[in-house]
Amino acid sequence: MLRKYSVDPDKRKGQSFLVDHAIARDIVEMAELSSEDSVLEVGGGLGILTHWIAETGCKVNVIEIEPGLCRALNDTFEEQDNVAVIEGDALTVDLPDVDKVISNLPYNISSEITFRLLHELSFQVAVLMYQKEFAERLVAQPGTSHYSRLTVNATYLASVEPVMDVPATCFYPKPSVDSRVVRMYHRKAGPFAKDYRVFQWLVRGIYSYPNKQARKALGFWLRTLSLDKSMVEVIIRKTSSVKGNERLRTLTLSDVISLADSAFEMIEDGLLPDPRGESHEDGSV
Ligand code: SAM
Repeated sequence: MLRKYSVDPDKRKGQSFLVDHAIARDIVEMAELSSEDSVLEVGGGLGILTHWIAETGCKVNVIEIEPGLCRALNDTFEEQDNVAVIEGDALTVDLPDVDKVISNLPYNISSEITFRLLHELSFQVAVLMYQKEFAERLVAQPGTSHYSRLTVNATYLASVEPVMDVPATCFYPKPSVDSRVVRMYHRKAGPFAKDYRVFQWLVRGIYSYPNKQARKALGFWLRTLSLDKSMVEVIIRKTSSVKGNERLRTLTLSDVISLADSAFEMIEDGLLPDPRGESHEDGSV
């Protein structure tokens, strides 16, 4: 199929396609689809997941960036009017309104696409395959080595459970990494920050240094904002739980929210600049 549709080899670089139908079917089953559901698939590839999603009778919207693969998908599913192929970049095309997301994501855009899905779609469940190390960071517990800025941001928005490991042998070409499937839900129960943009601003500012003590990381961050380091103690004092000598890696989501809420109060009091007009092209968090 790849030769027939002459896929640009440069565009395929680093992409591996799932070739194990039993695994593809298991992944789709994890979303517990009904024929009433509407599903988004990011990166259709050769359509192995698309096939099993479409089998359930639900509507599948599959976004694929590579024109040759879009032609292949359109030909393969020509007879099935419940499959719609959207040619484009999943980071920029308009996303369809869906109930569920099922994807073997392009690993090079894992972070950006995950946060786009979480910010823009109110899906009931997303069943997503990632590079194993990325999935480990998504679900890491405070105090562990995988706990990072990604973990804090993802934990704020979502609850994530690992559901299946997929070895490299299930793909062609065989990648050098293993993969993990997770189930993701929007987080419904609090705590939530007083202002999500302030939470994002603080996390972006301090979590480049997850091994640093909170006090040190806050100090570095304030210096980049040309602010006096003495503000650090004000931020810490206002929190209910953070002492300052904890490593960022060990702070719970509630601790980080409490730091963000301190920063929020200081913005309201005119002690910190207001970041809320700033835009980040990558929708960055
Ligand atoms: N779902 C297929 C499977 O499981 O075999 C393909 C998965 S492959 C890891 C990722 C697919 O995403 C490739 O077909 C690639 O062309 C496509 N892709 C890469 N970047 C993309 C983007 N920004 N937007 C949409 N599709 C993209």
